[in-house]
Amino acid sequence: MHIQVDRPATLLKPLFVPQKLLMGPGPSNCPPRVLHAMSLPVLGHLHPECCSIMDEVKAGIQYAFQTKNALTLAVSTSGHGGMEASMSNLIESGNTVLIAVHGIWGQRAANMAQRYGADVRTINIPAGEYFCMKAIEAGLSQHRPVLFFITQGESSTGVHQPIEQLGLLCHKYNCLLVVDAVASLGGVPVYMDEWEIDVLYTGSQKVLGAPPGLAPISFSPRAIAKIESRTIPVPVFYWDMKILGDYWACFGKPRVYHHTIPVSLLYGLREALAIFVEEGINKCIARHQMCAKRLHNGLEKLGLEFFVEKEEARLPTVTTIKVPRGLDWRVIQKYAMKTYCLEISGGLGPTVGKVIRIGLMGYNATLEKVDLTLKVLQEALLHARRPHT
Ligand code: PMP
Repeated sequence: MHIQVDRPATLLKPLFVPQKLLMGPGPSNCPPRVLHAMSLPVLGHLHPECCSIMDEVKAGIQYAFQTKNALTLAVSTSGHGGMEASMSNLIESGNTVLIAVHGIWGQRAANMAQRYGADVRTINIPAGEYFCMKAIEAGLSQHRPVLFFITQGESSTGVHQPIEQLGLLCHKYNCLLVVDAVASLGGVPVYMDEWEIDVLYTGSQKVLGAPPGLAPISFSPRAIAKIESRTIPVPVFYWDMKILGDYWACFGKPRVYHHTIPVSLLYGLREALAIFVEEGINKCIARHQMCAKRLHNGLEKLGLEFFVEKEEARLPTVTTIKVPRGLDWRVIQKYAMKTYCLEISGGLGPTVGKVIRIGLMGYNATLEKVDLTLKVLQEALLHARRPHT
């Protein structure tokens, strides 16, 4: 045996991670308590202490989602994996599904559903708008899908989609409702059981303030019935809720090994949920709304224009502003990062090149950080307006 690849010189240098203020659409900065928790010793993935922490995380997610669903857990994945797990479990080849496309997340969901063999139908509206109930009901009545997917917090456009009435509406058409709340949970209300949502998922790295890598998700009894009625197994082992649910002790049976949970991330999410529970849902939402109001007032004072025209449709967690005419958003973004180590982002999907996105999530949703972001943005705009050679 011969060493044919040299030791990489880069790994012989110390690890370098700068301190940045993440005021983009996610991830957000983790509270120190979360970072500390992740430095605690690694436990085995079936050790009783680890299982107790999984139970605590499950209870935290049930509180955050306002659900009593037994099949509630965190999938070891980023937000995309929540979407993947929903599609993988609920779709059988040939099923008709209806996807609401009002930004990139509907597009992604449609792409995923196609890969599971669904007959994918979409309803579409321009970026920056939200669906009215009439349009959704027309889609359900025309396509008669088994599943309807919609994103509550469209982080690519900055839209808050109303979803309170959707569960009832979908169930009238014998259709399951899947909601993506990756960018919205904790920033706006979402009551899973009361609103009859069948699958709800979020990401750990947004309002909750844990690092990316675990996607809280919950399935209603209706969704479980659909999984139980499958004639072929879930095509991806990793997303199979019947096995994963047993690892998380959701079905009252002894735990089984499904995969090795990223225990350090689990500790981080446990502490993030503990902070969320200590604050309480309503206070957390109110804080995000108060910060968004301050941000929006400040942006107006800077003469900036909102991408989302209707004020009530603006998402508190992700604000989109039109790139001022004649300015390059990259110059603004670079200035903020280079001068202040502060992240603001450009657009995504249908808003690329059109907007600047500012995130207010979790630990970063404070008036001080809003004021700092406004100050940096003001300077960055002045800088971008100067002639560049
Ligand atoms: N859905 C929404 C609404 C999101 O904002 C994001 C992340 N920006 C995702 C899904 C995907 O999450 P992740 O990047 O963690 O996979």
